[in-house]
Amino acid sequence: MTDEILERVEEIKARGFAQAREGNDPVNEPMIRHWTEAIGDTNPRWTPGPDCEAPPAMAQVWTMPGLNPERPPGEPLWDTMVVLDGAGYTSVLGTNCDQTYARTLRPGERVSISSRLEEVVGPKATAVGEGYFVTTRNTWTVGDEEVASMLFRVLKFKPGTGRPTVDRSKTVRPLVNRDSAFFWEGTAKGELRIQKCNACGVLRHPPGPVCPSCHAMDRGYVVAAGRGHVHSFLTHHAPVVPGKQLPLTLALVELDEGVRMVGEVDSDIAIGDVVEVWFDRIDDDLTLAQWRRPGDAPEAKPEETSDLPAWELPLTPTLVVSTALATRDFQDVHHDRDLAQGHGSKDIFLNILTTTGFVHRFVTDWAGPQTQILSCALRLGAPAHPYDTLVFTGDVVSESDGVTTIDVTGKVSLGNHVNARLEVKLP
Ligand code: ZN
Repeated sequence: MTDEILERVEEIKARGFAQAREGNDPVNEPMIRHWTEAIGDTNPRWTPGPDCEAPPAMAQVWTMPGLNPERPPGEPLWDTMVVLDGAGYTSVLGTNCDQTYARTLRPGERVSISSRLEEVVGPKATAVGEGYFVTTRNTWTVGDEEVASMLFRVLKFKPGTGRPTVDRSKTVRPLVNRDSAFFWEGTAKGELRIQKCNACGVLRHPPGPVCPSCHAMDRGYVVAAGRGHVHSFLTHHAPVVPGKQLPLTLALVELDEGVRMVGEVDSDIAIGDVVEVWFDRIDDDLTLAQWRRPGDAPEAKPEETSDLPAWELPLTPTLVVSTALATRDFQDVHHDRDLAQGHGSKDIFLNILTTTGFVHRFVTDWAGPQTQILSCALRLGAPAHPYDTLVFTGDVVSESDGVTTIDVTGKVSLGNHVNARLEVKLP
């Protein structure tokens, strides 16, 4: 940390809790409706009417500053953001959100927030770029009553300094023709096929129209056993190959059947090593034959089980944008793809308040609408982009004194999007 950043951060920390700031609007039915529609939460307790309650995951929404906020001087998170912006750390990502809820809120209540800066850690090299983790402690009050609290951590990073993300959909496509179509149809089925001359029986690779041995054009194929040894290999460091993480190891594999094939190897290899084929499905149109040493095959994972029935949520741009706005989060990375890409992201992505809302909905859809959520500690991982699917699973971890602890995982194609632990009182 540079001395200047350190000095400013220490000064902000030393201030302690800032003066409470009241939310722009009281808790109100229209904003609750907007939220429940965007999140798709049909819990009848959130239905407008005389008994309407606000979803606990909305705690932060009531004091969000808005699209063009006039920041009151002295707000610790904002002041810290300004310091880091000035040093070039201009992008922000929510990473952790640990909330506790004393009770639900009701329309008409006026919520205030007070926060203090807990710590700033960095600079750290992260997948998205070099940055600082900024943690604040926030409490929400109605009058003198504390109704909810939150430990909130964001990563403030320099765009363009992260590891380049690999877009597998950009993988270079093979030229498929009448001679080679059988090979790619094979990989799609998990078969490694070798062209065979139907006249003399000689095997050949790469495929071609004519037998090099007897010049017959009548051709078929055999399915290889999928084992061979490394005849030669090279490691490619540059230039960039679309869809591939560098460095990339390419081997000339001599199959037990006698032909040689060029393929990617995902192992540390030496010449003569025995390798076996595996099939890397890129998409519906392309499956690549790859190689690895037999001992390097990932262990077969046991069938995943979940106490809570899995929930598959298709992610669309509309979902990402509508939920961001319903949570009053106007960060451009949640609604403007061009600007999101300018910040080094592949596309827009779900915001942390929305993920919190989905996690709550997942648990209460299972446990029942009267379930009382006491706390939710949530850690974000891989971003949830449109056109992906977010799959929630959950397990009951423990039960004591009427409090049930539930772990929830939300996965996207890039990995775990969220890990959360909730404490709830079941009805
Ligand atoms: Zn032949």
